[in-house]
Amino acid sequence: MIVDSQKAESFFRMLSESKKTVIAGHFNPDGDCIGCLTGMRSWIESSFPGSVESVSMIVPSIFPDYLHFLPGADDVLVFPKDRSRSKTLIAEADTIICMDFNNLARTEDMAGLLSESNAVKILVDHHPSPEAFPDLTISETEVSSASELAWWLVSEVSSRHGLSVPFDTKTSFYTGMMTDTNNFCNSVFPSTFLMASQIAEAGVDRDKIQMEIMNSFSQQRMRLMGEMLLNRMRMFNDLKAATMVLDASTKERFDYRDGDSEGFVNLPLKIKEVEISALFTQGDGFIKVSLRSKGAVSVNRLCRSYFNGGGHERAAGGRLYMPIEQVEDYFGKCLREFLQKEGNGAV
Ligand code: 5GP
Ligand code: MN
Repeated sequence: MIVDSQKAESFFRMLSESKKTVIAGHFNPDGDCIGCLTGMRSWIESSFPGSVESVSMIVPSIFPDYLHFLPGADDVLVFPKDRSRSKTLIAEADTIICMDFNNLARTEDMAGLLSESNAVKILVDHHPSPEAFPDLTISETEVSSASELAWWLVSEVSSRHGLSVPFDTKTSFYTGMMTDTNNFCNSVFPSTFLMASQIAEAGVDRDKIQMEIMNSFSQQRMRLMGEMLLNRMRMFNDLKAATMVLDASTKERFDYRDGDSEGFVNLPLKIKEVEISALFTQGDGFIKVSLRSKGAVSVNRLCRSYFNGGGHERAAGGRLYMPIEQVEDYFGKCLREFLQKEGNGAV
């Protein structure tokens, strides 16, 4: 059993006593994050119809258009856009569920409000080294995604209490799992296929989800991908690494929309010799760092040491504060030092 039955029971009890619930996601919300929020909201609303007054979903920054097909995604509040409403909802919440992040700092401007709140606080997450949550921490790293963990959690609770899991929850959690595994490529466990099988059996429209996520690029996004591969990829052969830099002028040239570079960082790993891939994206006031590994190198530790971030062993991210022209050389220097220290890499 993936979720401890006592924890599942505590989760049920906390939610059955909650009138106003807030579900919070992380900065730069991805498919796993939004899938968790919409899936969990549908499940709470259908499971506790007599007691629930409101279930709100709040994220600290905007999320890509291609996730708006998820049932209920249009109700997700974006903190900087809906600041006063979000503040009220957080202040009035009696339960807050944090999903798909391991540390309140990942909610940026919302972190202070969340930590000040007197609500019951629950964590449902799959990242290593989670912050201890005072009331309930449901954290497993040996699952594909927070959405998969949430699936096993609501399945366990529902079967114990004779509840049924709504169709919309299945659609959302399946999408979250599918996006976080990069369409069943990474971090797939036997339990992941079991989840997929159970959800497929329930008749969820996998073809539609596949189409919405994988085959709905804009023309500009597709051309940007070509540009990045042809002209922006730099090889660090001795380090078995490759980098790509997406600067502000390229973004403008290709009419960049939020989420357009999703998945680009995985592409250099298709090259046989490349074991580490890095994507640097120029943002407002900082450079977003995305790292992937297909070998033994822990990009989680690499990000913690040099890139002001963290994540999973093979997928991690962070931030840099330096001119965009300097990031590739900085990356090369840091990776070389890291591999020498860890002694498990190419050098
Ligand atoms: P992505 O490269 O897709 O943005 O992020 C991959 C993973 O890295 C995420 O699942 C998340 O766990 C982690 N991550 C991304 N950005 C940050 C960050 O700024 N700080 C931390 N601690 N983790 C991050
Ligand atoms: Mn995730």
